[in-house]
Amino acid sequence: MKVKVSNANQPNWEVFNVQSHIPAELRQLDELAHNLWWTWNPEGIELFRSIDHDLFDHKCDQNPIDMLQRMSYDRLTELSKDKELVDRVNKVYKNFRKYMDVKPNEKRPSVAYFCMEYGLFHILKIYSGGLGVLAGDYLKEASDSNVDLCAVGFLYRYGYFTQNLSMDGQQIANYEAQEFDKLPIERVLDETGNQLVVDVPFPNYLVHAAIWKVNVGRISLYLLDTDIPSNSEYDRNITHALYGGDWENRIKQEYLLGIGGMLVLKKLGIKKDIYHCNEGHAAFCNVERLVDYVGQGLSFGEALELVRASSLYTVHTPVPAGHDYFDEALFGKYMGGVPEKLGITWDDFIGLGRTNPDDHGERFCMSTFLCNTCQEVNGVSWLHGRVSQQMFKNIWKGYMPEEERVEHDLRTHDEWYNIYNSHPEESHVGYVTNGVHYPTWSAKEWKSVYNRYFDKNFLEDESNEKIWEKIYEVPDEEIWKTRLALKNKLIKYIRERFRENWLKNHGDPSRVVSLLDKINPNALLIGFARRFATYKRAHLLFSDLDRLAKIVNNPDYPVQFIFAGKAHPADGAGQGLIKRIYEISQRPEFIGKILFLDNYDMHLARRLVSGVDIWMNTPTRPLEASGTSGEKALMNGVINLSVLDGWWYEGYREGAGWALTDRRTYENQEYQDKLDASTIYSLLEQEIIPLYYARNRKGYSENWVRTVKNSIAQIAPHYTMKRQLDDYYDRFYTPQASRFKALSADNNKLAKEIVAWKELVAERWDSIQVVKKEATNDNNGLHINGEQFESRVTIDAQGLDDAIGIEMVVVGTAEGQDHLLRVIPMNVVGHEGNLYTFELKSEIDIAGSFKIAYRMFPKNSLLPHRQDFCYVRWFN
Ligand SMILES: *Cc1c(COP(=O)(O)O)cnc(C)c1O
Repeated sequence: MKVKVSNANQPNWEVFNVQSHIPAELRQLDELAHNLWWTWNPEGIELFRSIDHDLFDHKCDQNPIDMLQRMSYDRLTELSKDKELVDRVNKVYKNFRKYMDVKPNEKRPSVAYFCMEYGLFHILKIYSGGLGVLAGDYLKEASDSNVDLCAVGFLYRYGYFTQNLSMDGQQIANYEAQEFDKLPIERVLDETGNQLVVDVPFPNYLVHAAIWKVNVGRISLYLLDTDIPSNSEYDRNITHALYGGDWENRIKQEYLLGIGGMLVLKKLGIKKDIYHCNEGHAAFCNVERLVDYVGQGLSFGEALELVRASSLYTVHTPVPAGHDYFDEALFGKYMGGVPEKLGITWDDFIGLGRTNPDDHGERFCMSTFLCNTCQEVNGVSWLHGRVSQQMFKNIWKGYMPEEERVEHDLRTHDEWYNIYNSHPEESHVGYVTNGVHYPTWSAKEWKSVYNRYFDKNFLEDESNEKIWEKIYEVPDEEIWKTRLALKNKLIKYIRERFRENWLKNHGDPSRVVSLLDKINPNALLIGFARRFATYKRAHLLFSDLDRLAKIVNNPDYPVQFIFAGKAHPADGAGQGLIKRIYEISQRPEFIGKILFLDNYDMHLARRLVSGVDIWMNTPTRPLEASGTSGEKALMNGVINLSVLDGWWYEGYREGAGWALTDRRTYENQEYQDKLDASTIYSLLEQEIIPLYYARNRKGYSENWVRTVKNSIAQIAPHYTMKRQLDDYYDRFYTPQASRFKALSADNNKLAKEIVAWKELVAERWDSIQVVKKEATNDNNGLHINGEQFESRVTIDAQGLDDAIGIEMVVVGTAEGQDHLLRVIPMNVVGHEGNLYTFELKSEIDIAGSFKIAYRMFPKNSLLPHRQDFCYVRWFN
């Protein structure tokens, strides 16, 4: 027998998990770690940090579950004998229970919230950017406001990517698998004690989704996960990546989110008053709800009335190209079986997702489907609401929504709201301006200032300007010192977080070190961090490099810029921008003056929005639907310098920040960019830098502090998540829930009545006739200002008693474009059999050349708005 040098086979490793046994004295830590409440309560953060500062902050990236798992049994036992620590655990736990044990407010309607992503905390990588962070903040505020809300989303295996930059500034995207047992999530269990799995019927087979739960304070967020062995490889990856894959993967995801999401709620016995789709991805939840109602014996029309009454769609995209569209073939592959269940034709079904239902070439659009199956639709800022009215106007033909913008002026929050709908009949698309969760985004140093000076009720009354005005009583030096402390914290964070990585990836170590040393807490620090979508124009600042070099290299008044942000892996142009900024940052005249920090996430965001002096935002108007990072900056005494777009359009106040005008001077984008860039340079050179460096004897700038105070007092109160949540209740949830209750009462009596009425009107609509029309002074269309204008119209209403309204519409034609001037209602003055006579008497109060026409529409006080039943007939 020949003796070999070695003879061994490969081990077949079995996974062997040992969890540290947590001693009884510290058992509450585990429960605390599994509820995200601790992430927005400083006492929770401090508690975990105090257990092992280095392990918590540096090795575990602030993940307490990971930290507890890594600690040895001996170490934990030792800690359990630390009386002071055990007392602290008990104290925090007691506060946590006190918070948790309050029953939800039953007076406000309950809500099921659907979203593709949630940004709750940086270690839970189920978000990519603003949409997710907004949804995450919303759940936290729902918890703090103690409303009855639950949410549905995905547990992604890989989530969004981690960003690194190569030596030459190329973005490298790494998808790192999340280890679920290290995350602040728990398995939802079924009756047998196993993880609940929901079987979602896909066209020819079932896809299985394991259900997880994130405890967001008092709120439950349910997450679907298809990466389990009972699924084929082809389906396991449905929940692998956020915004990855091809169109087929996208429709599978959206099918799972909408239909699977509803099945999860049903399986858990959850029924809510309102179903809220945050962005269009979850639109299919309304398909499932329609199928349910029809299955209970309702007609499709009745089902639609009920689903619509209880559904809200929030759009976040300002351009049609940003929505999801599916080809008929792909859509049919997944949805082919639905029409039969609804008792309608295929064309009627797919038509719900088309602007022109009969246009067979048109793809199915998720947003259009939501517009047709939700009673209410809203944009996410005043301006974006108006933009959305325009974007969707072809769905509801016959009406003429307002121009997008108004003459810009400083208006209060209420004034903005009141002028939004000067013609409410023209579009029901509303708005709720996004806000941010104050406890999450305000640094603890600021919380401490606010706690000392603000009313004790502050958190319950966060939008109250009177409370925030107390900031004027804080001594200037305290404001300045707080700002400086946070700047230093940011700089320390940058040095710690990036040194190692940059030494590894960015070449010459001495240069990396000197670059990090060059960050100067006494310089004016300007931050710009967001997704690198091209419309955000990160390149704007670099339009004139000579001028920029002069600004940053002034020895007396140094200025530094920090950039961060990820570009979507399929967005070549966005990645090109990152590369360009990185290259510029490496030039001798810019080194250490312009920094690009990789892997922008919520952790870095928290440091940046509290650590810089100015938060800059330069989107192409009007593409920034809202933007929220500037609102985070507000609460940290950081001043905004931004284009008047998104939330800043309504938020800007004089003396409380800087605004680039909302007027578009050039059609040509390149010229517009040049103009905007030079405005920024001038603002910096002539206003911002001199203001920042106007130091008094005590070493700070009084007028800078004044600006900080103005920004906190006058702007911040209106951009909290509490204000946003309250707006959703006031404008949508509460009125919708009460209408739904009325419609569904008595075995859906009213819903059935409305459907019967709509069918009757639809049937007779085309036969309604204008029998007679006369207008006084109808002399060749010439009228005189101040003169009385009268007109009478008689129609044969075909037995539709009092179900028809008529109005006169006056349109101006300035600059070759029609725009609505007046909508003058006509009153019924006579009625004989089927003949109704309408009359209008109005003084002519405008001069110039106009166009007029008459508009007939069905009217019924049970309708929530005109677009609910969008039949319109124009006549002259
Ligand atoms: C707040 C936030 C955003 C959104 O910022 P915008 O100003 O809306 O672009 C994106 N990413 C992260 C990590 C955030 O914290």
